[in-house]
Amino acid sequence: MLNVEVVVVGPLETNCYLVCDGNSCVIIDPGDEAESILNALGNRRALAVIATHLHFDHVGAVKELTEHLGIPFMVHSLDWELKEVFNELAAVWGFTKPELPEPVFISEGLELPLNLRVIHTPGHTPGSISIVGDDFVITGDTLFAGSVGRTDLPGGDMDKLRRSVCRLYRELPDNFIVYPGHGPSTTIGEEKINNLIIPMEVCSDEAGRTGYE
Ligand SMILES: [Zn+2]
Ligand SMILES: [Zn+2]
Repeated sequence: MLNVEVVVVGPLETNCYLVCDGNSCVIIDPGDEAESILNALGNRRALAVIATHLHFDHVGAVKELTEHLGIPFMVHSLDWELKEVFNELAAVWGFTKPELPEPVFISEGLELPLNLRVIHTPGHTPGSISIVGDDFVITGDTLFAGSVGRTDLPGGDMDKLRRSVCRLYRELPDNFIVYPGHGPSTTIGEEKINNLIIPMEVCSDEAGRTGYE
């Protein structure tokens, strides 16, 4: 059974998750505060740093952690292509541009360390992914408790986001815990009913055909 721990980091209060199987862990979305994350890791071994997407508030401590721990950084290639654009965004908002190491690219179907699985969930960004464990999903800024990620930033697409969230609803059991990039955890079943932006009722086939494809 995998164990999920959260460390809330940085000015945007990003949820950095440590997913561990005994003494082996992966670090997901280390947005800031490398030291707090290393403290939480303790004596356990980290296998990889994974980003759900490349926004600065999810990757600010990546370089420090990968260098310190000697482990790979993994991200979807569609977000890596927008690296410069996302860096500019950080600068515009008055944050430090993150320096990033060369990544290992992840894509749907690729098995991550600890048997974690990837679902490509574009919409908030083109390369946003959700990371699926045995009874939970880490959704980055795709799905929050009661809400979803914004789509007005570069590469954002509301129709794609709707389809991605609907896919999570369809493919994952209701009792799956949702660990989002910001704010409290929730469940798939709860969001299907009570999500204010994308509840299950907008996932009908008819709603699907109002898209642009
Ligand atoms: Zn984001
Ligand atoms: Zn975020």
